[in-house]
Amino acid sequence: MGDGAFSACHQGRVAEVYVKFLSASTTMWRVIKSEGTQAQYSFESAHKTGSQSLGTVRVPASMQRAWTIVDTLNALYWKRNNPSSACWTKHQETGACDTLTFVWEQNRTDSGYWDYPDTNYVILGQNEPDSKHTILHEAGHWLQWQLYDHAFPRVSGCNPHYIEQASSTSCAWTEGFADAVAAYTLGDYRYVDDSGASTSLRNDPDTADWDAGDKVQGRVGSSLLDLWAPDGPDGGNWDRTIELMSDEFSQNFREYFVSDRPAGGLSTTGPARTILGSHTITY
Ligand SMILES: [Zn+2]
Repeated sequence: MGDGAFSACHQGRVAEVYVKFLSASTTMWRVIKSEGTQAQYSFESAHKTGSQSLGTVRVPASMQRAWTIVDTLNALYWKRNNPSSACWTKHQETGACDTLTFVWEQNRTDSGYWDYPDTNYVILGQNEPDSKHTILHEAGHWLQWQLYDHAFPRVSGCNPHYIEQASSTSCAWTEGFADAVAAYTLGDYRYVDDSGASTSLRNDPDTADWDAGDKVQGRVGSSLLDLWAPDGPDGGNWDRTIELMSDEFSQNFREYFVSDRPAGGLSTTGPARTILGSHTITY
């Protein structure tokens, strides 16, 4: 039922019934309170007897951000383009999927990152889940690691990093990919932070205050979004890049474009080359 309605049934005699909600979706993704306890957020509906409407069930205010994360990850899961199993990527078989784990706690401050290569959890705190782009950007890092079957580019020169400023080729590739995952999943072309401040990813060679080339994550991210665009050269979506990344590891955007796209049957000339040029990347 698309409106969020549900019915729960139990056969036999019971004194009272209620529905318990956990901050997870099947075993594909979950939100936990801390790495230590691994406990999920949970709450219970009103306790009833017999057949009765529960009315509208609301997540308690103190844990709403956990459910924002659970909800937001749905959109990425359904775009994951894994035709071979229920898992996030084709590297795992149904029933043996890796779980995407987010840790979120309202008072946590050492947060806003994907904890690679330690727990491989996404760590969020405070109001960070108010940004769907942040949720999906961090999930995008995890997804890239999954697509590469638990491998990830060696990233250097990435702290700090900014959308419009040069960092390194490895940083711009991984951060640009994560930005593109968020924008692609949400169907926009920007990064909105948890305060609501929006940064457009639109850029061309004349865009003021933007550095040039493939060390700039915004240049890489916008190139990917244009390649995946409805009128783009990759067939109107990111599916062939997802398929390609499942087979070919790329250390940086140059390797993705120059070496691995041809291996995956994707173009590097014509409109694809023009797209990169419009974002100051020439190979
Ligand atoms: Zn990032």
